[in-house]
Amino acid sequence: MKKANWIFTLLLLSSLISGFSNPLTKAGKPVRNVILMIGDGMGTSEIYAGLTLNHGHLNLERMKNIGFSKTHSTSYVTDSGAGGTALATGHKTYNGAIGVDAAGNPVKTILEWAEEKGRATGLVVTCAVTHATPATFISHQASRNDYEIIAADFLKTDIDVFIGGGLNHFQKRKDGVDLTTKLRDKGYAIAHNLDEIKALKHGPVAGLLDTLHEPRWLDGRGDRLTESVHEAIRLLSMDKDGFFLMVEGSQIDWGGHANDINYIATEMVDFDKAIGEVLDFAEKNGETLVIVTADHETGGLSLNGGNLETGEIQAGFTLKDHTGVMVPVFSFGPYSEKFTGIQENTAIFYKMLDAFGFNTKK
Ligand code: MG
Ligand code: ZN
Repeated sequence: MKKANWIFTLLLLSSLISGFSNPLTKAGKPVRNVILMIGDGMGTSEIYAGLTLNHGHLNLERMKNIGFSKTHSTSYVTDSGAGGTALATGHKTYNGAIGVDAAGNPVKTILEWAEEKGRATGLVVTCAVTHATPATFISHQASRNDYEIIAADFLKTDIDVFIGGGLNHFQKRKDGVDLTTKLRDKGYAIAHNLDEIKALKHGPVAGLLDTLHEPRWLDGRGDRLTESVHEAIRLLSMDKDGFFLMVEGSQIDWGGHANDINYIATEMVDFDKAIGEVLDFAEKNGETLVIVTADHETGGLSLNGGNLETGEIQAGFTLKDHTGVMVPVFSFGPYSEKFTGIQENTAIFYKMLDAFGFNTKK
């Protein structure tokens, strides 16, 4: 056998062996579902703050494939508009951008790709559904501040499930238009609380649970995020073609801006509960890729002391804004090994497309 043939045979063998060694990954077979979970402002310190409050453990520890993401936008320190756009579209852009590249051109999002390829799609957040992170998946606007314009963009998609706050941006608008009527005309159920969502036999549903943002966990939000995720998965998994779902722990970031360690740690534990819900589904399902990452870190949080028994944390902060540090990328299920190592935030988009088996050439 010629040397070139030998190398080819070895490559073929090693790819077969690596394919067989992981029972979840049948080499080259696209995944059915992708669930992307974004902890806004969630660096390693925020994670460890949650772990401390939770007495030494988090569901995140169930995710064995771990990497890092370089979060910079066209600036060294990103905001959630550019950070979300990088994850949603694979483009580095300017801070404040929503689903547009650095030149302001609209760029197709992973949610739009999934929709075009016949997958069901969903967003579940604890802020307004029109806020920067969720907006980057369904909207293309020059500025994250145009909430009412972003709300109208939901009507341009066929998103199956969206749950969060933001009712005012749909109903109490400067132009006087009631977008919930338009959504109803398009076939959406409009739900104002979780019980209304639980009663639904199928989607599509606009779950607009609050006028603006959802309350803080500290102010009695309870298990709403985890329950919303449970309902979203129930409705989306009725589609035999699979689904894409983005879940955001939106307010870890707001605790960081407030330099409030109690706010950060409680939001982190709440987000982790939703991660547990998703992992339970993915474990049983076997065809679901789960990615948990952040858009950036917020607050320059350091943990100067603490107690894993009492959950006490002594926190230090360097600023009331975002920082430029790398953030972790946790992944689980088929294709999850592709998300290890140090990568650009934009690479996460392309790896999700690959996992779905979508052809980016057209
Ligand atoms: Mg956000
Ligand atoms: Zn922020």
